[in-house]
Amino acid sequence: MPPSHKPPRLRLRVTAAAESIIRGGHPWLFADSIREQNRPGLTGELAVIYDRKDKFLAAGLFDSDSPIRVRILHAGKPETIDAGWWRARLDRALSRRRGLFDDHTTGFRCLNGEGDGWPGLVLDRYHTTLVLKLYTAAWLPRLDEIVQLLNTSLPNERIVLRLSRNLQQIAATQFSRADGQILTGPPLTGPVIFQESGLRFEADVARGQKTGFFLDQRENRRLVETLAGGRPVLNAFSFSGGFSIYAARGGAISVTDLDISAHALTSAKRNFQLNQSIAAVAACAHETVQADAFEWLAAAPPRKFGLVVLDPPSFAKREPERAGALRAYARLAALGINALGRDGILVAASCSAHVTAAEFFEAVRHSAAASRREFSVLQTTLHAPDHPANCKEMEYLKAMYLKVI
Ligand code: SAH
Repeated sequence: MPPSHKPPRLRLRVTAAAESIIRGGHPWLFADSIREQNRPGLTGELAVIYDRKDKFLAAGLFDSDSPIRVRILHAGKPETIDAGWWRARLDRALSRRRGLFDDHTTGFRCLNGEGDGWPGLVLDRYHTTLVLKLYTAAWLPRLDEIVQLLNTSLPNERIVLRLSRNLQQIAATQFSRADGQILTGPPLTGPVIFQESGLRFEADVARGQKTGFFLDQRENRRLVETLAGGRPVLNAFSFSGGFSIYAARGGAISVTDLDISAHALTSAKRNFQLNQSIAAVAACAHETVQADAFEWLAAAPPRKFGLVVLDPPSFAKREPERAGALRAYARLAALGINALGRDGILVAASCSAHVTAAEFFEAVRHSAAASRREFSVLQTTLHAPDHPANCKEMEYLKAMYLKVI
């Protein structure tokens, strides 16, 4: 299209409330906060937001299909968003992670969406494979540009595309992209093997949950390793056994992986196999139980455990589910405590953004008090350093460590 036919820049005016939210640094503009728009927008194009005095407020990526209509890229002064701008933004995220991981940790998050100024985009590294996961269609028309940028700044063997479920149809029909597609590099021959804290794990980067592994729990897994020595451990909602293998290396007598998914448990077995060269892992008795964790725990487990990890999926995917989620967390914590022997340790985690850390900790504490056992809170944890969060919607992870007498 000749430049004279280029449509005018997409310009938006927003409500006073949205204006102050954006000024405060929040990265989302909701569709119902838009008062005026000079023309219909195209998904992926840059939208410029003006304040009531017609001054530049922010610029962001437009998504015509999402209630989050614009994901803010920058606010304050106008900036020219060109290839150099994107490179600088990538470099900023990469330098933020410099020094966090050594050669024994080859799986970590390089870009954490909004928290790194890449709203709705996640980039995880698993050894030499990069996994790019999109949560807004706004990135779809920009994929070639991003791949080029990644290939110059982050040496890799391949880049795999993952799409959140709600984008899969649009990606297929409008952009000919598919979940699990290889963007550059050779096809996958199976799961990718990577290292975390010197332990080997497999990640099903093409089909697995998130980008194939729960990288966000690394720091909690490291803590569990330091607490597990001499204890029989129950890892409820184990997925591929991440917590378990750390516990085994930390000297756990036994580890029970409990998950509703047979697929997850098979992966946990393979992950144990991958670490048999570590004497403590080889010495640790490993069993898997396929069951609903609530039912299994309520039916009184066959024996007491010395450490119980509870890391369930999100119980509140939407705000109206918040109260029910809190009840479920409280009940789960009560069941976990009941499964603990004397001096047992409970590690209770929640990944629901709609439940705040304070509410979750209160629910767990309440269950501990109701158990009528003496207890002490060992510590609480929040986000990992490679998963920075800059708004409450991004703050989802929290964990409480409790010891009961
Ligand atoms: N702790 C894991 C991640 C857990 S993800 C890690 O560090 O990698 C949540 C897991 O809970 C999934 O594997 C899912 O299959 C399992 N799950 C979901 N509902 C369940 C239920 N009712 N009972 C047991 N497991 C369940």
